[in-house]
Amino acid sequence: MTRGVPRRVAQTAVVAGASMAGLCAARVLSDRFDEVVVIDRDTLPDEVRWRAQVPQGSQPHLLLYAGAQLLEDWFPGITEELYESGAVEFDVCRDFYWHQGGGVLTSPPSALRGPMMSRPLLEATVRRRLARIPCVTLRDRTAVEGLVPDGTGTRIAGVRLAGQPPVRCDLIVDATGRQARSLGWLKELGYGPPPLSVVTVDTHYASRLHRRVETTARDWKAAAVIGRPDTRRLAMALPLEHGRWIILLVGVNGEVPPTDDEGRLAFARSLESPVIADLMATSEPLADPVAHRFPSNQRRHLDRMRRFPLGWVMLGDAVASCNPVYGQGMTSAAQQAAALGECLDHTRALDLAFARRYFGAAARTVAAPWSIAAGGDFVYAGTTGPKPAGTDLLNRYMQRVILAAQHDDAVGIRFAEVAGLVRRPEWLLAPPFLLRVLRAAR
Ligand SMILES: Cc1cc2nc3c(=O)[nH]c(=O)nc-3n(C[C@H](O)[C@H](O)[C@H](O)COP(=O)(O)OP(=O)(O)OC[C@H]3O[C@@H](n4cnc5c(N)ncnc54)[C@H](O)[C@@H]3O)c2cc1C
Repeated sequence: MTRGVPRRVAQTAVVAGASMAGLCAARVLSDRFDEVVVIDRDTLPDEVRWRAQVPQGSQPHLLLYAGAQLLEDWFPGITEELYESGAVEFDVCRDFYWHQGGGVLTSPPSALRGPMMSRPLLEATVRRRLARIPCVTLRDRTAVEGLVPDGTGTRIAGVRLAGQPPVRCDLIVDATGRQARSLGWLKELGYGPPPLSVVTVDTHYASRLHRRVETTARDWKAAAVIGRPDTRRLAMALPLEHGRWIILLVGVNGEVPPTDDEGRLAFARSLESPVIADLMATSEPLADPVAHRFPSNQRRHLDRMRRFPLGWVMLGDAVASCNPVYGQGMTSAAQQAAALGECLDHTRALDLAFARRYFGAAARTVAAPWSIAAGGDFVYAGTTGPKPAGTDLLNRYMQRVILAAQHDDAVGIRFAEVAGLVRRPEWLLAPPFLLRVLRAAR
């Protein structure tokens, strides 16, 4: 986290990509560079709207507690600003009706409170706050096309832009998303890509906006019904600003949620709890359903790269892009940005030691979301890829955690803390907790 006044590290940083990862990176760099230039090929709208280059923006985006905390730390008052724009204040334990493992998790009040809103509202608010920082420049409708090496060929000295003069920089952060555009740019300079892990989990989303009417008949603000793993189905309803629900159906490894009214309702009715189907049946749809396919978890191992140019790093989905049903991407990006800031605070120069330090920190940061998503996805038949030893045992244990969380508030809160990336997954294996889970699950 940014505390105190960090030291200036170098003159100019360029961030390629002004989506959530790029915005978080730029905020962290703004404390440590004289100038930060954020470049995106898309149009960055003044108003709150979906962006063509971030197609997933029309799907539900849960901001986990850890991510919300980092944003508040970097942009004081942003949570309040989001509430003023209509975001729904939300306690992830008390306000979530969470049906999984044949029952409903307990819903004690917790400290895990934060805003729930659409992805465009969150991104537009963060972007507006970032744009107010004097040393930050946002350049949209500008594609980064390549890297400019220095005279020695071992360091990046700038970026090439499509149809515009190059920009000089001391550090380039690739935040261009899952495709990690800089890998093509590195290839032009003779550098290979980092090793890649892929866990295939064919995930299909179909979400639809509905009108949300406040009522005292519900004691929850959001709902999730996670079908048994053999059904490969789940559904969620999340409240958004301007009195809307976003109701999401998800199918995994061969299950594809329908987009017609009858089919959607039948899909939701097939789940063990009727709450989402009932909500769908009784709330007016406001738009057509929007489908999105997510093919695989993927993780780039920067820490295992042998050769790379100095002055180049990557961050966000470019490093790890995990199954979105766990809602981790933006929070993981924020945590990687925080790690980048800490590494810069421990460096005198943008040298090999800095690069190795950050690559290691990024690997440790994404290890938690990766183990939750890529490990957890092996409960579904048909998931393929490198399965770490012990995954099946861990997944069986997680089913016990879910059962215990149906009766034991402390287990429910700990589970939410780990799922919210507040605590690392190892916390679920601490001996006193493990005993509590096994007792409660019985
Ligand atoms: C269906 C779905 C649902 C999701 N739900 C959640 C959720 O609930 N919670 C959550 O935290 N995360 C969720 N995510 C993940 C989340 O969307 C990402 O983790 C988040 O957007 C951060 O990604 P990013 O900034 O690294 O990349 P992206 O969001 O993909 O952005 C990449 C940016 O780079 C720009 N760009 C690309 N190439 C260039 C170039 N050559 N030059 C300049 N700019 C370029 C693009 O225009 C874009 O703005 C979901 C993802 C999907 C697919």
